Amino acid sequence: MKPLDIAIAGCGVAGLAVAALLRRRGARVVVYDRLETPRPLGSGLIVQPVGLRVLDAIGVGAAIRGLGAPIERLHGSSGKRVVLDVRYRARGRHAACGLGVHRGALFQVLYEAARDSGAEIAGGHDIVGAGDGRLAFAGGGRSAKFDLVIDALGIRSPLSRPPQALLPFGALWASLDWVGPFAADALEQRYAAARKMAGVLPTGRLKGETRRQAAFFWSLKHADRAAWRAAPLDAWKEEVLALWPATAPLLEQLDAHDDLVFASYAHRTLREPLSRHCVHVGDSWHCASPQLGQGANMALLDAFALAHALATQSNLDAALGEYARLRLWHIRLYQAASWMFTPAYQSDSAAIAWLRDFVMSPLSRAPPAPALLAALVAGEIGGPLSAIGGRQ
Ligand SMILES: Cc1cc2nc3c(=O)[nH]c(=O)nc-3n(C[C@H](O)[C@H](O)[C@H](O)COP(=O)(O)OP(=O)(O)OC[C@H]3O[C@@H](n4cnc5c(N)ncnc54)[C@H](O)[C@@H]3O)c2cc1C
Repeated sequence: MKPLDIAIAGCGVAGLAVAALLRRRGARVVVYDRLETPRPLGSGLIVQPVGLRVLDAIGVGAAIRGLGAPIERLHGSSGKRVVLDVRYRARGRHAACGLGVHRGALFQVLYEAARDSGAEIAGGHDIVGAGDGRLAFAGGGRSAKFDLVIDALGIRSPLSRPPQALLPFGALWASLDWVGPFAADALEQRYAAARKMAGVLPTGRLKGETRRQAAFFWSLKHADRAAWRAAPLDAWKEEVLALWPATAPLLEQLDAHDDLVFASYAHRTLREPLSRHCVHVGDSWHCASPQLGQGANMALLDAFALAHALATQSNLDAALGEYARLRLWHIRLYQAASWMFTPAYQSDSAAIAWLRDFVMSPLSRAPPAPALLAALVAGEIGGPLSAIGGRQ
């Protein structure tokens, strides 16, 4: 195939990753975003082993490992009962672990990779539609004509079908200075049934900084958001401390409600990643609650698969068909798993929390469940990389 002219809508994880990979394969790439100076929003996330392999392929694996915090296990308890204990090494003594990162650190390394590869980054464009190989901008302007438009606009993409509804629970997030007594190599969570959840994730540091950080999150229903904001912050802190007293040195860093950002979650899976006017990557194709910690990985895998398909197929139609084939089953599997697991950690159902604590948790300790759960969290079930030609 001749080198293509490609418009990428969205300068997030998926957009930047696909830009860097496509540039390396000779495409001319312009990445559009509404922000004048694109920057990440949000706090921290875990890049799973499959996502790290894609970052290696982009050439930024060492850079992100130098910034992030290696995560060996996911650990959660309800009262004295341990109800979540996933160890990455259950897959093998030398199996790769996850990496806790500040969203800003992931953005920085991907942004530099895309820019240094020669991708043009065009900020200040609020995208409202696409058609005829062009993007349409708020205010009436249109882009030049491209051979392909890639939609990487995330969960609220105007080029995708809107999610049917937001999930009832979202979460408050904050990036804070790292302080003990938390495990430096684990995502730790505390639950009260599935109604309350607090979590602490080590996220390493931002580029150019020495200060280590942690992401702190607290489950909150949309319906309770206004009441949370209207009440004094100290009342909420007391509620968190009652669940998890060790969070005191983290909570001390929060002075006002605005120090926390509320993130809402939604589930959506388009039947396939192709619409009439564009191809979707990342959250614009499939979004889920972050309970399984897969969104950024899925975005990275989509980018890798699309770039691979465009490089190996003889024409554009064949490449887009191959992209869908490479990703479809992995996406469906993980969307279903996220949908199943979410209520066990965020819901009002006492019955589901009971099942989690007294049925799922004991079962998860019986072999081969620990290795299977670790592979699920690592993003490896379904062999997404072997299908694309990468090392699993
Ligand atoms: C609180 C929270 C915790 C999470 N934790 C994890 C985790 O632990 N592990 C994990 O793998 N994933 C996690 N995720 C999911 C992950 O962050 C997303 O799946 C991932 O960022 C999706 O990447 P994306 O490129 O598709 O979209 P985004 O990263 O959302 O990028 C979209 C880009 O498009 C731009 N944009 C949007 N609309 C327009 C428009 N109309 N015009 C122009 N530009 C526009 C935005 O400015 C942005 O730059 C979490 C998500 C949340 C909310």
